[in-house]
Amino acid sequence: MRHSHSYCRFCDAIDDFDRFIYTGKGALKFQAFLIKYGEIAIKGKNRHVFEEALIRNISHALTHVEGEFEITTERGRIYITAAGDYDYEETVEALKKVFGIVGICPMWQVDLVDMQQIRRDVLAYMEAVYPDSSKSFKVFARRADKSFPFNSQEINAELGGAILGAYPKMRVDVHNPEILLNVELRNRLNIYSETIPGPGGMPVGTAGKAMLLLSGGIDSPVAGYMIAKRGVTIEATYFHAPPYTSERAKQKVVDLAKIVARYSGPIRLNIVNFTDIQLYIYDKCPHDELTIIMRRYMMKIAEHFAQETGCLGLITGESIGQVASQTMKSLAATNEVCTMPVYRPLIAFDKNDIIEISEKIDTYETSILPYEDCCTIFVAKHPVTKPNLNVIHRSEKKLSEKIDELVETAIRTTETVEVRP
Ligand code: ATP
Ligand code: MG
Repeated sequence: MRHSHSYCRFCDAIDDFDRFIYTGKGALKFQAFLIKYGEIAIKGKNRHVFEEALIRNISHALTHVEGEFEITTERGRIYITAAGDYDYEETVEALKKVFGIVGICPMWQVDLVDMQQIRRDVLAYMEAVYPDSSKSFKVFARRADKSFPFNSQEINAELGGAILGAYPKMRVDVHNPEILLNVELRNRLNIYSETIPGPGGMPVGTAGKAMLLLSGGIDSPVAGYMIAKRGVTIEATYFHAPPYTSERAKQKVVDLAKIVARYSGPIRLNIVNFTDIQLYIYDKCPHDELTIIMRRYMMKIAEHFAQETGCLGLITGESIGQVASQTMKSLAATNEVCTMPVYRPLIAFDKNDIIEISEKIDTYETSILPYEDCCTIFVAKHPVTKPNLNVIHRSEKKLSEKIDELVETAIRTTETVEVRP
């Protein structure tokens, strides 16, 4: 049902009233959104590539929302218009997860006619959105078309006066207004006063691909989220050690990938059976070096998949000093086996800061489920914290008989699943 004319005291002046969808429960929903994007606006010649990716990702995010939408562009602007009734909350929630969006502005978009009509439209907007308001406000008008017979200052003055006339309790505050009423004269007239913060970052798909080493812990999903936020497409590899790690532990990793995929888009997840490699290392190498040697093999195998699918780097959730395998010496030992760059977005983060992000992106509750991890089962009581590379190399020589074959089998038997939000 559309917003009815009798609702608005200015409606007699308005012939086209498609700005809201009236839900029938007294709630008004905006019919359109203006999408603001920041960094991507400064990308010069590449700009259209970024805009296209952003539009594609918005469109993808909205396929999961109830309603039909049209996405249109105008220089430096993306508009989303609902074709009929739609779920407002779901729409905003979906848009809040699209990297590259800086602001989501519920908006009226109507035909641009003349000053008189703009005044009527603005008063109708105020009546609908802020009935009986006594708030402070400021009109912020901008003209794209400089041939419009009034300049921005004149439009501000005209509309400010009209609002004060209609709302004697309101007052103008140019420095710190409670309502910043944006009035944009473009191909059509845009009126909006609310900006819901978007996630920022860059549209996924504009920065190449990287391979995330995804465990069931708190850190690696956050690391994947952060790199995806820079526009990077994510693939993932999980090292599973049945029967030491259960099906539930594996399902937990799939669930975490699903949550990260809400932001990053679909993730191809490689599930590697790592048991035989772990047992072999356990059998042949000193136990205090197990974690480091195991992690070196994880990196090698993840890099194999990364190379195979055109990834440009690896991603881990490591942070300096968090555990024995993440001292600077341990990180150097792990890093030594990689030829690709390893991105460690959490390297300087405290655990509390990582937890805060994991709560914000909704991975925390899943991450803390108590299912065992393949590393914790084989972990030594006193793992080395300052591994010596020569010593590690010597220990790894003891693996020479079977390790190549085991790695090859692990790669060959890897199960790959496409994880969607
Ligand atoms: P997380 O919370 O991400 O599990 P963590 O604090 O448990 O991290 P480690 O177990 O030392 O730290 O792992 C460091 C990083 O190595 C992880 O962030 C992840 O990127 C990778 N990693 C560890 N275990 C696995 C696994 N079983 N499968 C895939 N990657 C793993
Ligand atoms: Mg872990």
